[in-house]
Amino acid sequence: MVRVVIDREECISCKNCWTICPDVFEEDPDDTKSRIVEEYRNAGDPATGDVPSDLEACAIDAAAECPVEVIDVEE
Ligand code: SF4
Repeated sequence: MVRVVIDREECISCKNCWTICPDVFEEDPDDTKSRIVEEYRNAGDPATGDVPSDLEACAIDAAAECPVEVIDVEE
């Protein structure tokens, strides 16, 4: 299990994270910013997820491709 945190305020909706790792990230239709998919949200918080270890690599890849570096994967 890894903790994934998105600083949603700073997200520029570039689509990279949910394109690279749609099992973890998705577009929030209300504000077009990235959020954690419902299944992995921590206490319903769209900005914080507890993600199974088999999705760690794709979450890290998505974080690396975020142009404004607002995704944090805590190993
Ligand atoms: S990669 Fe970063 S800027 Fe792009 S949609 Fe995801 S969180 Fe937002």
